[in-house]
Amino acid sequence: MRLRKVKGADEAVAGSPYVIHDPEIKKGKWASEVFGNNHPIRLEIGMGKGRFITELSGLHPEINYIGMEKMSSVLFRALGKRESEERENLYYLCADAEELPDFFEEGEVDGIYLNFSDPWPKDRHWKRRLTSREFLARYSKILKKDGIIEFKTDNQDLFTFSLAEAEEAGWLILDSTRDLYKSPMAADNVQTEYEVRFSTLGNPICKMIIKQATQEE
Ligand code: SAH
Repeated sequence: MRLRKVKGADEAVAGSPYVIHDPEIKKGKWASEVFGNNHPIRLEIGMGKGRFITELSGLHPEINYIGMEKMSSVLFRALGKRESEERENLYYLCADAEELPDFFEEGEVDGIYLNFSDPWPKDRHWKRRLTSREFLARYSKILKKDGIIEFKTDNQDLFTFSLAEAEEAGWLILDSTRDLYKSPMAADNVQTEYEVRFSTLGNPICKMIIKQATQEE
């Protein structure tokens, strides 16, 4: 795919101390070599400009966060936010989520956030959706046993697809709503950039929380 170029973005991302440039060699060593502690590691995939993860990492210094974004021109915008914050628990990856099993060991990640993922509306592109069974299988490879995925979108069709894929792939739906702000699930909600934009337009926000089923369940 050809990405829109933003002047200086590639250089800024390549030179940033907050971006992990060699994630393959960190596999199995994120706690010891990147964060220097054993706090849980949570990953946001397709983080965009970083509003959500920047706020969350400030609220929870006892949790380590990694923001993953494949477009350097977009990640570049998150770096601006990062520089103004004193944080030891927030790093970034500039890569495609397809590569996740190369970057993390089994059980190394405690939770995954997917926010306003690209809908890929054409049927033939279903495998590209970040909640497809193909991606759920990749997440299974890196999530710890009780690890959860939290997914938000305003796209009703993508949400319907995502619930069905999760069930089909044997995940448990722990909670879900098609109108987050009218639901008890809104209690600790942190908004994303897209969420602010779409909820201002009046679109209801959907959210699901899922977990891998274990043998006992
Ligand atoms: N989460 C943000 C941005 C949503 S837009 C928000 O809610 O405001 C979706 C983002 O996901 C885009 O920035 C896109 O570049 C990124 N993205 C899409 N597919 C991806 C993939 N396979 N790996 C990493 N990032 C991806």
